[in-house]
Amino acid sequence: MVKNIAVIRGDGIGPEIVNEALKVLDKVAELYGHTFNYTDVDMGGCAIDKHGDPLPESELNKCVKSDSVLLGAVGGNKWNDVPGNMRPEKGLLRLRAGMGVYSNNRPAKIWPQLADASPLKKSIVDEGIDFIIVRELIGGIYFGEHKTVDDTAIDVLTYSEAEIERIGRIGFETARKRNKKLCSVEKSNVLDSSRLWRKVMHLLAKEYPDVELSDMLVDNCAMQIVKNPAQFDVIVTENMFGDILSDEASMITGSIGMIPSSSLGATTCGLYEPIHGSAPDIAGKDVANPVGTILSAAMMLRYSFDMNEEADAIENAVSGYLDAGYRTADIMSEGMTLVGCKQCGDLIINHIKKE
Ligand code: NAD
Repeated sequence: MVKNIAVIRGDGIGPEIVNEALKVLDKVAELYGHTFNYTDVDMGGCAIDKHGDPLPESELNKCVKSDSVLLGAVGGNKWNDVPGNMRPEKGLLRLRAGMGVYSNNRPAKIWPQLADASPLKKSIVDEGIDFIIVRELIGGIYFGEHKTVDDTAIDVLTYSEAEIERIGRIGFETARKRNKKLCSVEKSNVLDSSRLWRKVMHLLAKEYPDVELSDMLVDNCAMQIVKNPAQFDVIVTENMFGDILSDEASMITGSIGMIPSSSLGATTCGLYEPIHGSAPDIAGKDVANPVGTILSAAMMLRYSFDMNEEADAIENAVSGYLDAGYRTADIMSEGMTLVGCKQCGDLIINHIKKE
């Protein structure tokens, strides 16, 4: 297959971690007979320096025309004083809007080799933690009317059936590619928008008889994620609940440098990026952990290109690299071998095998 990938290296550690992910994609292309063409896109602080704009229209167009986008991270202290609508992060918001992505998908997975890094009890971690939170990204209370009248503040929460249905479909489709269990999370004992959410999810479930749908109230879900995370496969939820639950879920895995994410809309063209930022404190030192970006590339293969075997090959290679005892500084522990960003990429490539 031939795929055209827009590549946003961005700022801080962005260029270093993206380089390693591209090396991994090249290895997969070679082993499986694919061609991945890369188009560089300027976004973030580097685009402000070069074009005076965090995401010029011409750069956005490269992303929209691609088969998918791989992003490192943007931002840094250097651009703290630029006006709000010109800040590096504005580029990211414009990119999401321009690509029409309305779901953000974050896996929470504990690698058994890193079980000690989790703040949870060993007995809970040993049950296995491997689920994805599918969060609605461009609706709900964050996008409703916000106003303050005298001593009263008002934030409006609205969801239409159509908005719920399209994120619901991403939840069901994601579950279909995993263990076929979808948990819909809402607050239907209190909120009308949640009662509509529950109704639409159950209507959709008729189209996905192979996926088992369950409902959970958000307060219970917040408890279950720390009490019994092994029960979850895919969680689908609205914007604000997803914002909070996905941060909770990423904390239980123990390392911010290991977690990938995807953002998807109506087409297969998705945005793939690690959940961390540009880490200016360690930029240019060859110490960043590139695994979150490498696993984002694996998600791109699985969810946008339908290349499941290739995605498995990358994930197995990461597991093999950890098994061999290599660790970047952020996840280093006693008895392990310390490696830098480039060496980490090289070692993972050596572990990629065509099954
Ligand atoms: P951060 O995620 O960049 O860093 C937080 C801490 O985690 C730092 O100590 C950093 O060294 C460490 N860290 C992060 N990624 C790592 C990796 N791959 N390997 C090893 N250690 C890693 O968060 P921050 O410091 O709050 O933000 C820094 C900049 O990034 C800011 O300008 C912020 O706006 C931006 N940011 C961008 C994105 C994005 O591009 N999607 C997301 C979040 C923050």
